[in-house]
Amino acid sequence: MNTSGKISFNPITPKIVLGVAAHPDDLDFGASGAMAAFAKDGASVHYLILTDGSKGSADTTMTPEKLTEMRRQEQRDAVAHFGGAGVEFLDYPDGQLEVTMELKQDIIKAIRTLKPDVVVTMDPTMVYSSLRGIINHPDHRAAGQATLDAVYPLARDHMSFPELFEQGHEPHKVKTVLLINFEHNNFAVNITDTIDFKMKALEAHVSQMPELEKTQAWMRDLASKAGAKNGYTYGEAFMRIDID
Ligand SMILES: [Zn+2]
Repeated sequence: MNTSGKISFNPITPKIVLGVAAHPDDLDFGASGAMAAFAKDGASVHYLILTDGSKGSADTTMTPEKLTEMRRQEQRDAVAHFGGAGVEFLDYPDGQLEVTMELKQDIIKAIRTLKPDVVVTMDPTMVYSSLRGIINHPDHRAAGQATLDAVYPLARDHMSFPELFEQGHEPHKVKTVLLINFEHNNFAVNITDTIDFKMKALEAHVSQMPELEKTQAWMRDLASKAGAKNGYTYGEAFMRIDID
């Protein structure tokens, strides 16, 4: 704690990062600048996408199967732009994600397999924003809640899901969680050198960006504001929790 009562954090240089989100594109909106910065510093960056993304289209000729395949490729392309290590898709139905033990088990499995020191996910406390005039997608909240539950205590304790332990998935303690929250945050990653990777990552989501330039301008503005608060040209802001 510093004298203002605000928590002050040192920058982080993780070795292994796991991003967990509901849909292809969520992590690229909220965290791809940071993911690119971590990758640039040598981290192995992985994405785990929980739903099949099969509902996100206004095109009435689109089918769920076609959209799922398209969005998978868009997500792979986005991660490839910044040198991410890979993407795994769990294929829960889009729009119906719930915080179940099954979902938590799937996330625990990823955590115990990859052993990330940093996990990035959505902030489940973000329900709505009257400032931006939005209700947060329920899948986003479910993704964040299930991930937090998986990080603590479930991935840590070998007696939680003993079948995973028996299959060789050793318990793992995550050091830091970064929650994507555009309005309430306590930490920023310097993305001055990686803002262009973020723009490229957004560009990859062709099916989701009918107004790409407008979206990129909004993201650039947000990054500029988050950076200004922290002495960076561009930043990406998170609610950071360092787990004791
Ligand atoms: Zn989403």
